[in-house]
Amino acid sequence: MPVNPKDAWNAAYTQLEMQLDRPSFDTWLRDASLLSCEGDVFVIGVRNGYARDMLQHRLYRNVRRVISDIYGQSVELRFEVHKSEADRNGQPAESEEMPLFRLLARQQPPEQTTVPLHQQVARPQRPDLPESELNPRYTFDRFIVGNENPVVYPAALAVADNPGLCYNPFMIYGGVGVGKTHLLQAIAHVCRTRGLRVVYISSEAFTNDMIDSIRHRTTAMFREKYRSADVLLVDDIQFIAGKESTQEEFFHTFNTLHMFNKQIILAADRHPSQLDGVVDRLRSRFASGLVTDMQAPGFETRMAILRYWAGERGMTLPEKVCELLASRARTHVRELESVFNQAVAAAQLSSQSLTVGAVEQVLDGFRRPRQYVTVAQVLDLTARHHGLSIEDLMGPRRNGPVNRARQIAMYLAREVTTASLPQIGEAFGGRKHSTVLHSCSKVAEDIASDDLLRSVVANLRDELTKGSH
Ligand code: ADP
Ligand code: MG
Repeated sequence: MPVNPKDAWNAAYTQLEMQLDRPSFDTWLRDASLLSCEGDVFVIGVRNGYARDMLQHRLYRNVRRVISDIYGQSVELRFEVHKSEADRNGQPAESEEMPLFRLLARQQPPEQTTVPLHQQVARPQRPDLPESELNPRYTFDRFIVGNENPVVYPAALAVADNPGLCYNPFMIYGGVGVGKTHLLQAIAHVCRTRGLRVVYISSEAFTNDMIDSIRHRTTAMFREKYRSADVLLVDDIQFIAGKESTQEEFFHTFNTLHMFNKQIILAADRHPSQLDGVVDRLRSRFASGLVTDMQAPGFETRMAILRYWAGERGMTLPEKVCELLASRARTHVRELESVFNQAVAAAQLSSQSLTVGAVEQVLDGFRRPRQYVTVAQVLDLTARHHGLSIEDLMGPRRNGPVNRARQIAMYLAREVTTASLPQIGEAFGGRKHSTVLHSCSKVAEDIASDDLLRSVVANLRDELTKGSH
């Protein structure tokens, strides 16, 4: 039986109440009612002119979709101010604490067009609001994509291409120095180039900014700064843990932006569900879009990154030097960068070329002596983990589990020891260097799609490198 307009409206009203955050619903839709239904046009009475403009120009698509879905056919909407309300007043009083959506609503909304909602929202004309500083080197071009992160790079590109439309919020989590900030800023650069208002901030700076604004009585300005962003990127969001008022403020910032289909992008050192000290309603919002982890780049990717950096400086890194550097910095790209920069700088200073010997010398000069992991240790741990013996891994057996364990061990040997491919081949019972390479590539490739394998490799790697940093 077809739903009548009144019932459709009532159901939509309830649904919108659940979908929108409380302050927004209360301001725009509370007390709204269906005045009439003229053909396929729902005429909805709202409390004041602000609510009417906001609904007509900014929330039109959302509300229409909810009603159309329930009504079972596509409808159009017209919002009118309730007579009684219009007679009674006119405009609400303005104060510094006036909710931001009202401040925003005062900036002439754009004419109704067929342009998608997210493009209809007027950009606040606030030249006095500072632009966020971005590192010019953190671009997509300069980000080397490895097999370890099959999701995060394409997802970041998609978000940069369609802010507010595909994954919102978009959250990246992962360890230190794996490239989270780089990717966040790469998205920020693209969006800024397109003329969007981009705010990039660390969560600590957000907290400090908020505290300053309270002290200087500029909270309205503070809110406008963040809530008028087309794209808000908050780095290291884990630092809001335990900070109640920051969380409260950020919750409203988040909701306001999300409501307008503005893009929110977050980076953290762990999954939202692990963010202890962050209230549930925020954690669930963080997890409501796309949450993707970012792994440290493996050996192959580290080699590629080094070659890229060398290329930028017009240098060619000898293969061996590249391998040596890549095996020195295993978990952080930041560490890799510092090893590379210092090696290059020292070589330039002493006018030596970058030979393995020279780099060894340079590296040993400024790094604490470290405990090296040997191929034998890799063999031992990997074999034990798989319930096999070292002989199994070194021997000729080729059945599935043994072969797999051997591949993993070779991959790890490449990752965590400084042994060359032929040396690894030798240690694995005199296998060819191309066999080792093939095994490493196979594992690197499979890791991208096999979560279990990834965690096995990560655990073994952690175990092996424990105490070696
Ligand atoms: P995080 O924010 O995860 O701690 P960063 O984004 O600060 O890490 O990355 C540390 C350094 O490593 C930066 O200089 C960054 O440019 C570089 N970096 C990280 N990942 C890559 C990559 N895949 N390709 C090129 N450079 C990278
Ligand atoms: Mg960072």
